[in-house]
Amino acid sequence: MIEVEPYSDDITCIKTATSQDGGHPIMWVYSYKILNTLFDGGAANAREEFREYLDDVTIDAVYISHSHEDHIGCVDILDGKVPIYAWKSAIDLLRDPPELPEFFQFVWGQPLPTKNVESMPSTFDVGQYHFDVIAVPGHQEDMVAFFETNHRWLFSADAVPLPSRKYIAMPDENVPRMIATLERLQTLEIEILFDAHRGPIQSPRDHIQKRIDYLKETQQRVKEMDKEGLDYTQMMEKLELNPPWYVEMTKDRFAIEFFLRSLLRDEP
Ligand SMILES: [Zn+2]
Repeated sequence: MIEVEPYSDDITCIKTATSQDGGHPIMWVYSYKILNTLFDGGAANAREEFREYLDDVTIDAVYISHSHEDHIGCVDILDGKVPIYAWKSAIDLLRDPPELPEFFQFVWGQPLPTKNVESMPSTFDVGQYHFDVIAVPGHQEDMVAFFETNHRWLFSADAVPLPSRKYIAMPDENVPRMIATLERLQTLEIEILFDAHRGPIQSPRDHIQKRIDYLKETQQRVKEMDKEGLDYTQMMEKLELNPPWYVEMTKDRFAIEFFLRSLLRDEP
């Protein structure tokens, strides 16, 4: 399913999701259109609706924040038609997307190959808007965000955790690096945060700080429990963390243990 919500004259939110229970989204992911430029390519289960939307608008370029399937799912529609830019590993993933586990085919959908992908520039202009491409590692090692330097808008992809109290992670997520990225974002004096799952956020400073504080406090507690010799199961009990209903179905793509292990072992 798709919902298109104009944010301003020049910015449009394009929300895509898999529909379930008679038209409810499992989870929205936002792509953004700034004038004729698209940031990220939505979820593949909304491909036909995304195609219909693209038939009605003009797109001149696409910039991809990172290679997770909910950000590249409909990009193949524009393959060979407009320049598509991505950073490092995302280029290979776009050209040859791996077959997703069944659960993620259900949640987001299977991306199709996008063969014509170019290297991400370090800056670019969209009309009167000037963007810096900034590295925001943590959630994914080579994820990038797009920062409009005059209006101080940040299109942050998945750099800022969706829940205020994150507690599951993927095995390759580096939570200490995520914290360092969040602290660096606080120095940018962002006016509007265009989050990929929450949409535009008007007071990003508090929103980001809440997540930094929680993650640092949790890291401190996990380190103390590790010194006391507690294992991950005991830590989960003490922190009162219970796995969400779907975690088994992710087949080890998400787990509380990955989150705790990263807080304990990874370097920022
Ligand atoms: Zn992601």
